[in-house]
Formats: sequence, C-alpha cells, structure tokens
Amino acid sequence: MSEPARRLRLVGAAPYREEAEALLERPGDASLVERGVTRAMVLRCPDGCGETLVVNLDPRSGKAWRLDRRQNSTTVYPSVWLDGGCKSHFIVWRDTILWCDRFEDGNVEPAYDPALEDAVLEAVPFDRDVGPAEVGDALDALAWDVAKALRRLALRGAAQEGVGRARGRYRRR
Ligand SMILES: [Zn+2]
Repeated sequence: MSEPARRLRLVGAAPYREEAEALLERPGDASLVERGVTRAMVLRCPDGCGETLVVNLDPRSGKAWRLDRRQNSTTVYPSVWLDGGCKSHFIVWRDTILWCDRFEDGNVEPAYDPALEDAVLEAVPFDRDVGPAEVGDALDALAWDVAKALRRLALRGAAQEGVGRARGRYRRR
C-alpha cells in the first residue's frame, strides 16, 4: 500500500451527506454536513482504501465527537476509526493526521507549547481523575494539546494516570 495521507484538508460544507461526500476528491479530504447546526464530518479514508468515514458531531444523535476549528485548522476529539473495512484509526490534530497503529512510524506531531503545562496542572484536581476534554474546556485549549501536557506531567511525576477505565484520565500528585 502507498503512503497514507498525513494532513486533513477541509474542503467545504453542504446540507446533506451525499452533497458533502461529493466534495471529497482524495484521501484525507473532509467536509461538513451543516443543516442549522454542524451535524457530521465526512472524511475520505486517509489510508487510500476509498471508504468514507462519517463522524457524528451532533450530541443529539448519540455519541458525538468534538470539532474544533480555531486558528484556521481542524481538530477532532477523540480519535477516529473505521469499524469495518480497513479499520483505520487515527487522530486529527491541527490538520495533522496522526496514525494510531499502522503508519505510526511516519507520524509528525503538530507544534506544541510546553507553557500550557503549568495551567493544565492547576486545572487537575487531587481527588478525582479528569480527562483532556474536560480540562481543555476549562482552559479553552485543544483537547489534544491538553492530552500531551497531561502525559508529560505524568512523566515528570506531577500527575498520575488512572488505570482500567480511568486510563487517559489523570489526577494531581
Ligand atoms: Zn481505509
């Protein structure tokens, strides 16, 4: 298989899924289904298999992902995967596609400012586990930036990651 896409390209929006899907030209292209509110993102699978992924962004329709378009780039939280077919699994962080299993060796993370870590640590309580989305909301920061800050805080012993169902969530030490 050839190299997968490593950038997400947001190409537009349309009111219905079929129209949004028609805007996609190549692997890694994405478009939004917007009808009153943003309903979903459709994404041409970045591994090149030709499948289209539909990412629900509307909490009224069940489990929903978060779309963040600040600073003219696109971030989706949590990670996105394709259940059937190629089983692609990846993160979309500031227009960068980071692969979670296959192709992981070629990942290049987007720019990250370690200055965020002080604020993140302040926002993490001692007595319960919190996740990147919750802390991101409190600080108005991207969840993936916060997730990286939390991992780095845990590495230096300032925070502790939960186990089992609390994995990916942290409390202060
Ligand atoms: Zn695929």
